Amino acid sequence: MFDEVLRKVRELERGVKVPIRFEVDENGYFDRVCPSRECRTLFKVKFEDWRNIVRDEEVFCPLCRHDAKATEWNTPAQKRHIKQTAQAYVQKQIGRAMQSDASRFNRSQNQNGFINLSMSCKPGIVPVPVPAKAADVMTQEFNCEKCQCRYASIGAAFFCPACGHNSVLDTFANALSTVRKTINAIPEIRRALIQAADENAAEDSIRHICENGLVKIVSSFQRYAEACFMRLANASAFTVRRNLFQNLTESDDLWRRATGTGYTDILNAVDYARLALYFQQRHVLSHLDGIIDQQYIDRSQDKRLDVGQRLIVSESSVLDLSRIAETLASGLDSLS
Ligand SMILES: [Zn+2]
Ligand SMILES: [Zn+2]
Repeated sequence: MFDEVLRKVRELERGVKVPIRFEVDENGYFDRVCPSRECRTLFKVKFEDWRNIVRDEEVFCPLCRHDAKATEWNTPAQKRHIKQTAQAYVQKQIGRAMQSDASRFNRSQNQNGFINLSMSCKPGIVPVPVPAKAADVMTQEFNCEKCQCRYASIGAAFFCPACGHNSVLDTFANALSTVRKTINAIPEIRRALIQAADENAAEDSIRHICENGLVKIVSSFQRYAEACFMRLANASAFTVRRNLFQNLTESDDLWRRATGTGYTDILNAVDYARLALYFQQRHVLSHLDGIIDQQYIDRSQDKRLDVGQRLIVSESSVLDLSRIAETLASGLDSLS
């Protein structure tokens, strides 16, 4: 009597291929997340390029360059969708199909013209509601010069997911302009969110947007300075420790030894001190969840806040940082 069911179960046990449909955004980009526990960066890859250019054996994270097989990059929502689809398939196959709409993946993100942008300056993913129009402004698109793979990110991105090529030199200026456009869109984001939710929700989103902008510029600048340095004819004469460019004093010194010109020769004292402060703030955002510790106060000489308080990143400081980083980057560019 149960012959057919048993036959199906045996078939399923041997393994079957279940076709799964994924959602892409209206520009044809497919959500991906870095599987590295420390990174968890969200980015997007043009679906066509994910299929045609990205290889199954190896995909790179645009932020940390972690590599893993193509099957490892699903977002939590996609993992749920895969599980649901597989369960639905099994149920159907053994004749116990429940409602078919359980398997339909419905991104809950596109409600009322708002999009939950997933942002993170730190491990973990924070969904931040922004108006759909602003989400476009905040997204930086990349096109790898080596393999032509198209990818996109809200936060910083340096490596092509398909070939691992470092694109930081070409995309630094673009990263600055994306952050500036984002900051300029804040009044509009605030208005829309106050209308749709309330003032608290609006300020919360804006806080994340500003923090994300600061982290994006500082980390993009550090990678940019490193890539510029490696271009120097005498670069190989210097030992460059890992993450050296995250330390402003050390990188200032390295550039001076290699070229005779350091950061403090390109920037005036006021700007250099402000840049040092932003570097410290990035550390607090990326490693301490934005909560100030004694080291931050000692190093930054920022007397406005106490240990245990949350850092405040203003819109004007992000714009100030973008101006300083641009000046310094063009100074370094002319040396290398
Ligand atoms: Zn990563
Ligand atoms: Zn590439």
